[in-house]
Amino acid sequence: MRPTHSIKEVSARIIDGRAIAARVRAEVARDVELFMERAGRRPGLATVLVGEDPGSAVYVAGKQRACTEVGMVPFDRRLPADVSFEQVTEELRTLNSDEDVNGVLLQLPVPGHLDGPALTSLIDPDKDVDGLTPVNAGLLSLGSPGLRPCTPLGVMELLADSGVELEGAEAVVVGRSNLFGKPMAALLLMQNATVTTCHSRTRDLRGVCSRADVLIAAVGRPRLIGAGFVKPGAVVIDVGMNRLTPEQAGNASGLVGDVDFAGVVELASAITPVPGGVGPMTIAFLLRNTLQAARRQARIEA
Ligand code: NAP
Repeated sequence: MRPTHSIKEVSARIIDGRAIAARVRAEVARDVELFMERAGRRPGLATVLVGEDPGSAVYVAGKQRACTEVGMVPFDRRLPADVSFEQVTEELRTLNSDEDVNGVLLQLPVPGHLDGPALTSLIDPDKDVDGLTPVNAGLLSLGSPGLRPCTPLGVMELLADSGVELEGAEAVVVGRSNLFGKPMAALLLMQNATVTTCHSRTRDLRGVCSRADVLIAAVGRPRLIGAGFVKPGAVVIDVGMNRLTPEQAGNASGLVGDVDFAGVVELASAITPVPGGVGPMTIAFLLRNTLQAARRQARIEA
């Protein structure tokens, strides 16, 4: 049974994203075998990487590996950095019509001469396992079923696993990107939270954040959210992934979040660390979305 966790209680609990992601991945692996028994084949996930950006290549390799680990079939498509819009379009169309491929993701960002959102919108919405096409974004904003972006789904799972009550809670999301902030706010609203979205023009960021029962930071500014932004007893979710030099970082990985963890940990009732909080959830939900897409395409009920 999931623990219940009062957001009023002040006892900073570290939300273990690695453990929760491992549980989700184990569930997906089990369900892939059930899918295999019923459909006679395994779900397939295609990644499309344009160019040789080393960071993107690491992300794609991680997705490919995770796919194999849960018994899915990975398809690894690589295109040179100087590829034309039409050539990427052709690749996406081929994957859209390939019956062995249930999920298609275009690794972002793409090189500057290409229009990433326009290319993303060409992915078949039924195979859009990143949940970023206009169709799936629209379904989310209507509160209708569809494929949702992986990181916000991962945050919802962290909150649910931690027993955080969202109904009627004040939830503040800092950041309004299409990739994270907007879908995060929509998912919270669907759970009946009272949602505020902040961004770079928000007048009193500290004041708005310090009202939050649930505070979610996705800004890309190292340690922006300090103790003065956090109401005692709040649940704090740090989505930020900022790579610092070893001298700046103060932790072995060189990765820091948007929250000043040391300053906030004594105030919050629960908090995600960086690394080991939100990060591992993204791939876990990419796998879950791929399974969802495969089931829908095969008309197999969950
Ligand atoms: P993004 O597209 O750059 O959006 C950043 C948002 O923060 C924008 O809405 C921006 O406002 C807002 N912002 C910037 N400076 C601000 C300030 N001083 N005060 C208030 N708001 C401010 O970034 P993103 O893709 O959403 O990602 C955000 C962070 O999350 C990054 O560190 C990224 O690496 C991380 N992330 C992690 C994962 C994961 O898997 N763990 C997934 C996605 C993102 P404007 O709209 O007004 O410019």
